[in-house]
Amino acid sequence: MAHEEIIQNRRTFAIIAHPDAGKTTLTEKLLLFGGAIQQAGEVKAKGERRRARSDWMKVEQERGISVASSVMTFNYDQKTFNLLDTPGHEDFSEDTYRTLSAVDSSVMVLDAAKGIETQTRKLFEVCRMRDMPIMTFVNKMDREALDPFHLIDEVEQTLAIDVTPASWPIGMGRDFKGCYDLVNDQLVLFDRGKGDVIQDSIKVEGLEDPKLDELLPEHLVEKLREDVEMVRELCPQFDRQAYLEGTMTPVYFGSAVNTFGVQELLDGLSKSAPSPLPGKAVERKVDPNEKKVTGFVFKIQANMDPKHRDRMAFLRVVSGKFKKGMKLKHVRSGKTMAIHNATLFLAQDREIAEEAFAGDIMGIPNHGNLRIGDTLSESEILRYTGIPSFAPEILQKVRAEDPMKAKHLGRALGQLAEEGAASVFKPYLGSDWVVGVVGALQFDVLADRIRTEYEVPCKFEATTLMTAEWIEGEAREVKKFCDLNRASIAEDHSGAPVYLARNSWHLDKAKEDFPSLKFLKTKEEI
Ligand code: GDP
Repeated sequence: MAHEEIIQNRRTFAIIAHPDAGKTTLTEKLLLFGGAIQQAGEVKAKGERRRARSDWMKVEQERGISVASSVMTFNYDQKTFNLLDTPGHEDFSEDTYRTLSAVDSSVMVLDAAKGIETQTRKLFEVCRMRDMPIMTFVNKMDREALDPFHLIDEVEQTLAIDVTPASWPIGMGRDFKGCYDLVNDQLVLFDRGKGDVIQDSIKVEGLEDPKLDELLPEHLVEKLREDVEMVRELCPQFDRQAYLEGTMTPVYFGSAVNTFGVQELLDGLSKSAPSPLPGKAVERKVDPNEKKVTGFVFKIQANMDPKHRDRMAFLRVVSGKFKKGMKLKHVRSGKTMAIHNATLFLAQDREIAEEAFAGDIMGIPNHGNLRIGDTLSESEILRYTGIPSFAPEILQKVRAEDPMKAKHLGRALGQLAEEGAASVFKPYLGSDWVVGVVGALQFDVLADRIRTEYEVPCKFEATTLMTAEWIEGEAREVKKFCDLNRASIAEDHSGAPVYLARNSWHLDKAKEDFPSLKFLKTKEEI
């Protein structure tokens, strides 16, 4: 296949959902169609001990399917799909935001009984900021659901986006009989309890086809005909351009757990979802078809295999064709790295990347050189933008329960900081660390991870600190400021100086006394 065709046939996407809407189940069923698993549930556990870090690990544990934790690659309809996991928990949202900067489109899963929930809405807003194309999957139609008209109205009103049903449900809950596929004029009948079996569709000649009357109870055919007439009157037709611009979402109804409606969604992605989009660098736009390899790191994950203290940097390839052993420039440091052992995430196994193309995600083993937001480039100096960083809003002190383990704690915190799970500061004075997060619950998660992954029981304690701000400016001035304020200065995990301010008066005073310095809420990496 020609290079451009290969890229044309790639779909890199994420699923966004409120917890419990069915993201994991849908993921699993997409893999089923992708041929990655024969029958979900049949593949037995490999006996490997794994932690439930990502939702996919839940799939692994429950179903014994070997899936890598953050990216799944599968093939369907002669296309290569890269599905990126977005952790659903509210306090992991930073990670989610960053992941969404590495995909070209997303699928929004709604629980048919609940409609738009808080987390769906937040994630949707992130997608909208990037004008990202979104398909909607209304899940759990086999249960009592909200009226479909109500649901599409809610999507339209709450999210202010045009809605166009791609399928229409026939009945719901106990009476759910299937969907009418509005794209292909087909009837897809629902066969309850056929969990992992892919259900056939029945070709009909439009809604007036007498086959419908044979196959469905009279009152439901009548209702279907009325409903569809109304849908066609009220809703705009699918307009691919509007979908690509993020102003229209096609809506599919289904039941993930019954593998129902999933194929239609996947066909929709195959046909309409965007292939890899151009990358935005400070210097210029980069076309995915360009021959030279470029990409950016959007995620760092530590301890993917608890037996090894490995860390992996996830690189979204933006352009070019990567080949094993290739030398890429690490733009921030100016150093060159030969990439021999990058990982691709094929559904059955992690595999060493022989080659990768624009749109693909590579895992690069990392010993601390790569950071979130870094660009790798074959030749040109480029810096990709758009990876959000977040200001730490709540600060706490942390110390190891066993003072002998202080060093271990430091190492654990350093790795977590690199992952972007928290901001970590080591004050010049004293033996505690200060940790900054966005959501309070993150402290519990961190304490738990430090205890289980690094075997260091530790204690978080409240502080009287109001804010941590990175100090930037001319080196001499920065040093002068730090010397004068030693008791309030810390280093972040990369050694950059940070001012820990107790209140706004202190901060204002610092700004006044040192007008040439900048005090920044997030660290500017470049
Ligand atoms: P996640 O939190 O979004 O990943 O949701 P899960 O995929 O774990 O699903 C949450 C619960 O809903 C699980 O108990 C699933 O078995 C169930 N579920 C998922 N899809 C369906 C569906 O189509 N119908 C019904 N009745 N239950 C479903």
